[in-house]
Amino acid sequence: MQTLTLNNGVRMPALGLGVFQTPPDETVSAVQAALELGCRHIDTAAAYGNEREVGRAIRDSGVPREDIFIETKIWISDYGYDETLHGFDKSAAKLGVDRIDLLILHQALPTEFDKTLAAYRALEKLLTDGKVRAIGVSNFMVDHLTALLDATDVVPAVNQLEIHPYFQQRDVLDFDNDRSILNQAWSPIGGITFYPGYGEDRKSVLADPAVTAIAAAHGKSPAQVLLRWGIQQGRSVIPKSTKRHRIAENIDVVDFELSTDELTALDALETGRRGGPEPENITLAAYGRAIPEA
Ligand code: NDP
Repeated sequence: MQTLTLNNGVRMPALGLGVFQTPPDETVSAVQAALELGCRHIDTAAAYGNEREVGRAIRDSGVPREDIFIETKIWISDYGYDETLHGFDKSAAKLGVDRIDLLILHQALPTEFDKTLAAYRALEKLLTDGKVRAIGVSNFMVDHLTALLDATDVVPAVNQLEIHPYFQQRDVLDFDNDRSILNQAWSPIGGITFYPGYGEDRKSVLADPAVTAIAAAHGKSPAQVLLRWGIQQGRSVIPKSTKRHRIAENIDVVDFELSTDELTALDALETGRRGGPEPENITLAAYGRAIPEA
């Protein structure tokens, strides 16, 4: 599996298994399947409620801990310097590890940015202390990143964002690329475009004729084409599935290459329509909820 080098020299497998909306009772089998199939990167979050099961699957897998890249996220309710240090303790204890490979802030809190900064300074402290190998952010827009970079010392290693052909956030991708912040795609196969609630007129990017035509030309699935589109443009991708055959399919994306014309055709599918919550509207009042103790 291809690896990417983060801005502090740490190497991260480009493709990881995502576990958002994977129920705790299906998380162990999904993570075990991914590890058996050769995936060595798992993306979870304090807010997903399944860190404990991710940790159990890793321990039971027999794969050495140091061969697995564990990424998790601090939820906004744990922002603040001491709160975020404690957030690390909760996640590490649930995962059953001493050290987390990549710890990121799940969202910016635009109206309480001081709390966001304090949380990030706690990540810097954890990095200095060797409790985490890399730190980063998620769903940070250019304004949030600019304010963060102005006020803190460590450039985030990663910005995890909604990125699929229907919503590419090119302004953020370019800003990140210029500052050695690695772009990591959530909903990389457009998951959010076919979740209930996306909208009555929702259309899955997996079923887009441009995607299915490219897939047919390569003898690959639409999901494989979308993951290849991300990886070939230097991004990390973290597709989610609870199904072993799909996890296997999603990992099998190294033996073909999209042409420049095909990449351009996929780039042209941009709709400007965000699937996830508007990052500017994230507040504790609307989205806060307590993360349980370990
Ligand atoms: P994805 O683009 O990974 O799509 C997941 C959906 O696609 C699921 O419904 C899954 O169903 C289905 N699926 C998986 N593989 C295939 C396949 N080969 N063919 C057809 N369907 C498939 O979207 P997600 O929104 O789950 O994002 C991925 C990960 O990104 C999350 O798990 C999480 O780790 C992270 N994330 C981060 C966010 C953030 O704010 N930082 C927000 C959202 C996600 P099934 O399980 O039944 O196979």
